[in-house]
Amino acid sequence: MTKPLVVQKFGGTSVGTVERIQEVARRVGACAKDSRLIVVVSAMSGETDRLLKLARALSPDPLPRESDVVVASGEQVTSALLSIALDARGVPAQSFLGHQIRIRTDSSHTKARIRSIDSERMFEALDAGKVVVVAGFQGVDENGNITTLGRGGSDTTAVALAAATNADACEIYTDVDGVYTTDPRIVPHAHKLERISYDEMLELASLGAKVLQIRSVEFAKRYGVRVHVRSSFNEEPGTWVVPEESNMEDVTVAGVAFDRDQAKITLTAVPDRPGLAAKIFSPIAAKGIVVDMIIQNAGADGKTDMTFTVPRLEADHALQIVRDIAREIGAGEARSEGDMTKVSVVGLGMRSHAGVAAQIFETLAREGINIQMISTSEIKVSVVIDAKYTELAVRVLHDAFLGGDKEARG
Ligand code: ADP
Ligand code: ASP
Ligand code: MG
Repeated sequence: MTKPLVVQKFGGTSVGTVERIQEVARRVGACAKDSRLIVVVSAMSGETDRLLKLARALSPDPLPRESDVVVASGEQVTSALLSIALDARGVPAQSFLGHQIRIRTDSSHTKARIRSIDSERMFEALDAGKVVVVAGFQGVDENGNITTLGRGGSDTTAVALAAATNADACEIYTDVDGVYTTDPRIVPHAHKLERISYDEMLELASLGAKVLQIRSVEFAKRYGVRVHVRSSFNEEPGTWVVPEESNMEDVTVAGVAFDRDQAKITLTAVPDRPGLAAKIFSPIAAKGIVVDMIIQNAGADGKTDMTFTVPRLEADHALQIVRDIAREIGAGEARSEGDMTKVSVVGLGMRSHAGVAAQIFETLAREGINIQMISTSEIKVSVVIDAKYTELAVRVLHDAFLGGDKEARG
């Protein structure tokens, strides 16, 4: 009988030093006795930031194509180092860069999407009894240019490879024991979830929980890949990200996420006429800036104020666009405020349990935290607050829904 095929991904901290790489090699070597293995690695921790800084030291706006060539080198190094470490332990291994196994992406440098993967070379190496070691985060476009998949993209490489090879499991090894009810760095008494649904994980990831890159969860959901997030520092079982199960709605809230990188832009005295929202938001969208929450307040004088959020790094650019439009349409002043955090409460059980939003508002009010914007969907409520209250808000919301004796999933 053929051995099961498992994809294992080791993140930056897990391969952050020579000693850590040796430890990964030990672990992989032990698993290789019972499984065929495809191992995906990130760059050593801090390396991608260091490489980006080098590029930015030469230009405030480095060419995206060249930036990708620079940052992809981080994963090139670790993939070969792990293969060397495995070989040194007597475990046959071979490294592959994105282009060598044709991880074909679109051409959106720095945030490319995977379109297809050619598994043939990986299966040849597996059939020859080797551990396949793949450089995460990178791919190649149809013209042969190196692309990268966005920060945290090695998660997506791993899940996409698991889908493409029809692997039996996809294990994401990281520096926490699994997916927690909130970031354990902010709330040390957060607890590990045994299971979480794809939809809850998608929300948490898109709302700031960077334990998995959002695209990896999209892939997992689309192809039904069961993902096991676990620690590279111990052997404990972690968290399974799985299709929704019948009892998952019993727990109202699965977790709390936060995103500190928000900015708020306000445009005052916008004439209240059909078509003006399109006039304001179309040029922003055309520049690839993602607008998140939008609030419009109609005044009695036929004018409205428009407030919306954008990623903080893009606030200056968005403000410049809005100022140009304001002049064109005869609106008032445009201003931006950085230092906003979006805090979100996520759970499948919100579909059937009323009153979560009200409880969020009461909890924050008790701490004197002002809510600036609100948005809701079927399984989440998000609020935008002043960034200086981030830790406090996350902690009190966590404890209100998930603290102490409250029910939690696992
Ligand atoms: P890796 O380098 O292994 O990919 P990341 O730093 O990208 O690791 O992701 C792991 C980190 O995600 C943890 O150290 C933790 O601080 C953070 N994190 C944020 N939210 C959560 C959560 N709900 N559960 C677990 N970790 C979380
Ligand atoms: N090295 C890349 C990053 O730091 C990709 C990853 O680690 O997943 O974002
Ligand atoms: Mg990561």
